Amino acid sequence: MTERAFATPTTLEDALAALEGDPHAAVVAGGTDLVVADRSGKRALPERIVAIHRVPGLDSMEEDGDGLRLGALVTHARIDGSPEIQARYRALADAAALVGSPATRHAGTIGGNVVNASPAIETGSPLLVFEAEIELQRVGGRRTVRYSDFVRGPGLTDCRPDELLTAVRLPGLPSGRSGSAYLRLEYRQAMEIAIVGAAALLVLDSTGRCTDARLALTAVAPTCIRAPEAEARLRGRIIDEAALADAAEASASAAKPIDDVRASADYRRAMTVVIARRALETAWRRALESTA
Ligand SMILES: Cc1cc2nc3c(=O)[nH]c(=O)nc-3n(C[C@H](O)[C@H](O)[C@H](O)COP(=O)(O)OP(=O)(O)OC[C@H]3O[C@@H](n4cnc5c(N)ncnc54)[C@H](O)[C@@H]3O)c2cc1C
Repeated sequence: MTERAFATPTTLEDALAALEGDPHAAVVAGGTDLVVADRSGKRALPERIVAIHRVPGLDSMEEDGDGLRLGALVTHARIDGSPEIQARYRALADAAALVGSPATRHAGTIGGNVVNASPAIETGSPLLVFEAEIELQRVGGRRTVRYSDFVRGPGLTDCRPDELLTAVRLPGLPSGRSGSAYLRLEYRQAMEIAIVGAAALLVLDSTGRCTDARLALTAVAPTCIRAPEAEARLRGRIIDEAALADAAEASASAAKPIDDVRASADYRRAMTVVIARRALETAWRRALESTA
């Protein structure tokens, strides 16, 4: 049986030191992916585990210029319950509210969700439409990368073995009336993995013309992806239901789904149009209800 070492650093410096020069060490935050993967026989726990729950500051949520900075340990429950996120980054709150069960949402963190990098990750499409940035630190260095560049493939990110994801930064929103939404197709209403998901962000001027449109898709490619053709069909246009239907139709061109036990590729492609349209309609309704 493998001997495992478990460290519980109480400072950021000690956490980074525990990761330095040890390719067998891995971080555990809420453990809802790492521990569950081991117990289900999917992936054994690493030899050395660095638990970060005692590192101060990693659970903070704070204004950052005109944006918001979420520490790596902010849980899905806190994201769902945050009035600030509900008001400005609603698609992210929608996504957090869908993760697992109440227990999963209270233990599972934004940092763990992002580094786990499942193609069906709930926060992925919202982070793409908000053009989020990822902050990483290691001994002697720190860097910030765009979320869109951070995720490389299923379970693969740009996080090096000696790096800790310290925060997820949500930049300020473009000016205008904006609304966003995330929703997913699911066969049951809880404890489900997205068959297809979509996040939309729409920004309108005072005449109802769309000044910015962003749409991202979940579980239809190796990573969450933007749908540029759909977005282009909305920018500069007065939004109505026909415009949204047109954009949703165009979103299918971005989808590269696969057949798996939960759905065929053809079904996923067809449902991409439906789910993209619902996300766009909800974002539009919320933009109309918002004040600039
Ligand atoms: C019953 C159940 C239902 C679920 N439902 C959903 C769902 O609906 N949608 C969804 O998206 N996910 C779901 N998940 C997956 C999981 O809950 C989330 O991905 C969660 O956000 C993971 O966070 P965590 O803190 O538990 O990560 P952990 O398990 O602690 O870590 C996950 C991975 O990230 C690494 N890591 C964690 N934090 C950091 C950090 N700060 N820096 C560097 N590396 C780090 C770990 O080394 C590990 O590789 C579910 C899980 C369970 C058990």
